[in-house]
Amino acid sequence: MSLSKDFVTSCLTGVPDPVRGKDLVSSGALQWVSACDTYASIKLSLPPEAGKPVLQQVAQLAHSKLTQIAQRNGETVDSLIVEFVDDAGTVVHTARFGGMISNTKPPAKDGVAPPASQAAGSAGHEPIPGLQKSAKPAGSHALPGVRNIIAVGAGKGGVGKSSIALNLAVGLARKGHAVGLLDGDIYGPSMPTMLGLNALEQAVVAGRLQPFYVHGIKAITIGKLVDSDRPLIWRGPMAHGAFKQLAEQTSWGELDYLIIDLPPGTGDIALTMAQTLQLTGAVVVCTPQKVAQDDAVRAAGMFRQLGIDLLGVVENMSYFVGDDGKSYDIFGRGGAEVMAQRLGVPFLGAVPITMALRENSDKGDPTANFDNDSGAGDRLRVALESLVTNLESQVALASMRSGAQKPVLTIS
Ligand code: ADP
Repeated sequence: MSLSKDFVTSCLTGVPDPVRGKDLVSSGALQWVSACDTYASIKLSLPPEAGKPVLQQVAQLAHSKLTQIAQRNGETVDSLIVEFVDDAGTVVHTARFGGMISNTKPPAKDGVAPPASQAAGSAGHEPIPGLQKSAKPAGSHALPGVRNIIAVGAGKGGVGKSSIALNLAVGLARKGHAVGLLDGDIYGPSMPTMLGLNALEQAVVAGRLQPFYVHGIKAITIGKLVDSDRPLIWRGPMAHGAFKQLAEQTSWGELDYLIIDLPPGTGDIALTMAQTLQLTGAVVVCTPQKVAQDDAVRAAGMFRQLGIDLLGVVENMSYFVGDDGKSYDIFGRGGAEVMAQRLGVPFLGAVPITMALRENSDKGDPTANFDNDSGAGDRLRVALESLVTNLESQVALASMRSGAQKPVLTIS
């Protein structure tokens, strides 16, 4: 038997909304439900004054209600994730109950699953053949002056990996961070077009590549260094050398974030590139369909086997927002979120398909994605900004986990 959205929703009609009265469904607190096999995930919106202890209590109640009714109906609930979101859709608190995808994971204490960071190491993926599991990528380099290096990967091409990498970079820059973007997608470097670099020349000063300063970010792309009309056949060492050069011989200056657009897939080249630099973590981009999720699970497995922290999963092309402002679930919205949940990886957010994003990419104007006057109103901007905020939080957590950033205790 498998859980369904309707079943989860009906269970939540039995959980009171502590702020508005009534129950979580009729009070309008329930924003989103997703269910697959024995896994469920919900988003609730409660006024901020509710406070974390109340949110945690609501989550506990939702979990007990769901498991109770499920048991009565002969259903199983292996995992429930309850996310509390604010008006902009940004996750303000998460409660996790039950296990992840692994069967080898130790049982959860008090019904609360271990945090994603812990689950990441225990999610039961077989090593990719020929690849040793390592705590930190062997021989990887830090880049002087660069605080966080984030790789954006995908199980396969065409899911919008480059678009997400670019919009994360521009979104972070709009929040005041110093951001670089390295387009390492040697199979189809799309940044020259997406950033509007086609008429610009690559500058080299004192033997160092000068990044293009566009849309508030510093960008470098392999597409400006090879003849775009002549396909290059990349052999592993050649691609690795080119990537290393782009990363290490570019005058990045001081950066808060360097976003790397990796080649798609889990082949040799993506794998070597992911190992070259000391990454803060990786983001996996996926579309909602089941077939796309299978590829994304492999990409997540690759990062894990390399000992790279998974910062989260992004669902791109989650649903279509027409110029009339209406949403259409073309590919089955929510699939990537369920996958993230099953992997025990944070879900960073969903980006709709919009005409605006495609047009702005073709025009080389990503900044326009953050305008409110695209045909879809402010939907694209809100989705992208929420993604950026969630990524910032995950990077902060990853830095604490790795000991790079310790909380400061002030005693007065
Ligand atoms: P990948 O890097 O995974 O190959 P791209 O980012 O190059 O994918 O995207 C492929 C195409 O899909 C591009 O034309 C891009 O503009 C378009 N695209 C990607 N995401 C969206 C979206 N959310 N809405 C509309 N078009 C999109």
